Amino acid sequence: MARYTGPVCRLCRRERMKLFLKGDRCFKEKCAIERRAYPPGQHGQRRGRRPQGYGPQLREKQKVKRIYGVLEKQFRTYFKDAARKRGVTGENLLVTLERRLDSVVFNLGFASSRSQARQLVRHGHIQVDGRKTTIPSYQLRVGQDIVVREKSRQNDFIRASIESARGRGIPDWLDLDIDNFAGKVNALPTREDIKLPVEEQLIVELYSR
Ligand code: SF4
Repeated sequence: MARYTGPVCRLCRRERMKLFLKGDRCFKEKCAIERRAYPPGQHGQRRGRRPQGYGPQLREKQKVKRIYGVLEKQFRTYFKDAARKRGVTGENLLVTLERRLDSVVFNLGFASSRSQARQLVRHGHIQVDGRKTTIPSYQLRVGQDIVVREKSRQNDFIRASIESARGRGIPDWLDLDIDNFAGKVNALPTREDIKLPVEEQLIVELYSR
């Protein structure tokens, strides 16, 4: 499946904020936003104006796509599904993204970024309800168990991620059993559980034009 493979710090700089796409580096002084908090490119420093017209809506959509590592076509599909469901479309959209297996693996601390989580899933290190699951977009349901495979528990990346995620905290809708490399979905996330600085209503406005 297609995915963005360019330099991810450019994406943060384009959005003028930290999107936390690179694991530990995001919390260090080396973070590109700490050093160059302006958009990339030759004219990056000139673009001081606030986005006008549908610019803010576009930026908000790009921000969310980049945080979750989802490309346009799949994002639009998520949006259509969210619009069909009951409730607030913007919140439905964020909840769907948050329930992706790669996002949950990241939230449980088994990976230091969503892209690393995606790779762990793709490479077969993760089981859902006892079965190897290699689809990062897999939608988790209440009651499902997410476990790092027995063979993968000595993996240096996973161990380092768990160590560095200790201070990050686990969302209320997930349970973590760190000794057994296991997590569980207790409930579906609500908007309050998703601590992202996102105005999802702008995305709804963009797609409703
Ligand atoms: Fe974004 Fe992380 Fe790069 Fe900083 S280090 S610019 S937060 S991806």
